[in-house]
Amino acid sequence: MRIFEDTYLHKGLRKQLIDFLRDERKITDEDVLAAMNRIPRHFFLDSAFDRIAYEDRAFPIGEGQTISQPYTVAYQTQLLQIKKTDSVLEIGTGSIYQASVLAEMGADVFTIERQKKLFDAQEKFPLKDKYPNIHFFYGDGYQGLPDYAPFDKILITAAAPYIPEKLMAQLKVGGKMVLPVQDIDDAQTMLRITKNDDGTWEEETFDRFSFVPMLKGNV
Ligand code: SAH
Repeated sequence: MRIFEDTYLHKGLRKQLIDFLRDERKITDEDVLAAMNRIPRHFFLDSAFDRIAYEDRAFPIGEGQTISQPYTVAYQTQLLQIKKTDSVLEIGTGSIYQASVLAEMGADVFTIERQKKLFDAQEKFPLKDKYPNIHFFYGDGYQGLPDYAPFDKILITAAAPYIPEKLMAQLKVGGKMVLPVQDIDDAQTMLRITKNDDGTWEEETFDRFSFVPMLKGNV
C-alpha cells in the first residue's frame, strides 16, 4: 500500500509553485493561493510523478484524462469568488484536486464524473476524511444535480461546446458559472456567467485555455 507523506521537500516545492502563480502568473486571490499551499498535489498523482508534481503542468490521471495545470485551477477558482458558505457544483471530478481546493476554501462541493473508473477512485482518496464537504456523483455533467440545486457557483473543468442550459437552470440568481467554451480552433475561451433575476445573464470573457472535452453520457 502506498504511504502518503508530505515532506519538507514537497512543502518547499509547493511554496515555490505558489510564489510562481502569484509573481509570474499574476494570480491575486490570496485565499486561493493559501488553499493551494495547504494541499499536497502529489497525493493526487501516481507516485511516479512525485518529484514533478509541483511543476505548473497538467499530468495524465488515466482514462485519457488529466489533472488540470495549477495555473488553470487557480485561475478558475479565483473567477468563482468562493465564499465559505457557497454550494458549488463541479463538472469533471478527475483527480479530485480542484474539488479539494474548493473544499479547503470552505465550500460545500458537489462533483460529477462521467468515467466510472475515475469515479471509483474516490473510494481510495487519501484526503476523504479531511474533506467530508466533498460529495461525489457518477453521471453526465450535462444533467447537473437537480436534487441538490440551486447552486451558488458552478464550475466546468472540461471544454464545453456551449453553455449547458440545464446547468444554467440549476444556478442561483446572482450565482456565477465559470466554464471554458470551445472556439472554432483547438482552444477554449474562459467565460464567467452571472445569472440575473429575470432569467437573463451577463457574460464576461477571459483568457484562452486548453481542456479535455466535455463529453455526453457516462461510461
Ligand atoms: N477537475 C479535474 C479536471 C479533470 S479533466 C481535476 O482537478 O483533476 C476533466 C474531467 O471531466 C475528466 O475526468 C473527464 O472524464 C470529465 N468529464 C468530461 N465530460 C464530462 C461530463 N459530461 N460529465 C462529467 N464529467 C465529465
